[in-house]
Amino acid sequence: MKPAAFAYERPGTLGEALEALARHGSDARPLAGGQSLVPMLSLRLARPALLVDLGRLAGLDELVVRNGAVEIGAMVRQRRLERDPLVAQHVPVLAAATRYVGHPSIRNRGTLGGSLAHADPSAEYPAVALAVDAEMVVRSARGERTIPARDFFLGPFTTALAEGELLVAIRFPALPAGAGWGVEEIARRHGDFALAGAVAVLERGPDGTCSRASVALFGVATRPLRATAVEQALVGRALDSATLREAAALAADAIDEPLSDVHGSATYRRQITPVVVRRAIEAAAARAGF
Ligand code: FAD
Repeated sequence: MKPAAFAYERPGTLGEALEALARHGSDARPLAGGQSLVPMLSLRLARPALLVDLGRLAGLDELVVRNGAVEIGAMVRQRRLERDPLVAQHVPVLAAATRYVGHPSIRNRGTLGGSLAHADPSAEYPAVALAVDAEMVVRSARGERTIPARDFFLGPFTTALAEGELLVAIRFPALPAGAGWGVEEIARRHGDFALAGAVAVLERGPDGTCSRASVALFGVATRPLRATAVEQALVGRALDSATLREAAALAADAIDEPLSDVHGSATYRRQITPVVVRRAIEAAAARAGF
């Protein structure tokens, strides 16, 4: 199918983009890499009157380390996250997750901000943001605000972004030296969206027990979720393989609104969730030196 007719603007500054979004309200839609929006236009799942192309905005493609966090502009392409040395050094879990996002041609165009704003419940980046407690920096003609990842993802393809707001940057706290991480997913083919996925970050305290555990799920519910029962079963314990297995078995408890579609039923997704969680926490535990 062809998209319905729309107007197109390609502003050169952030101020002009915010002004265009404010002027057109809910009729306007930002265009980033187009890897989700263009198919939605073609299928007429989205029919904006105006597309505001973010491709020429200066400053939205920066990636810097500031105040203990990697601050990544919303227009940074996914392909860069796979290869950037600062990401590899400070948030390696983000680089690892990127390798599961579609295929290289999609990652060449697709952006970090586009994926987070799109909020597909099966996408990898929202779960990484949730696992590491990232912060979303959001701008509109009214000013700037910061939204913690835990408050950002509200439901399928729904975020806390208000009308006229643009995601401009994302702050990922640098993982402490020695932290272990793991990203695992089950998909029908490599590059397909996950049927179930997990992101884990674990830290080992001076007494040899787990001092921090973050486990986020994707592909299983209507939004990314923290598996708090799993986290609680890990913290304060020495992580041997029996403890990891027991903790992973609690993963399905987190799924409040299960996803069920032509690719996998809710029952199937519940069954495979503890499997991906076990793999992710085993990888994280090994990297953390357990
Ligand atoms: P766009 O498509 O341009 O925009 C997506 C949405 O976000 C639109 O509603 C747009 O208005 C809004 N938006 C974009 N930028 C901003 C911003 N800065 N502020 C506010 N709103 C904004 N993704 C995965 O996570 N995992 C996968 O396995 C995966 N597989 C894929 C396979 C295929 C075949 C394809 C085509 C895509 C796949 N994707 C996958 C999606 C891909 O990662 C997209 O790049 C991503 O979802 C959207 O990023 P984008 O930059 O292309 O955004």
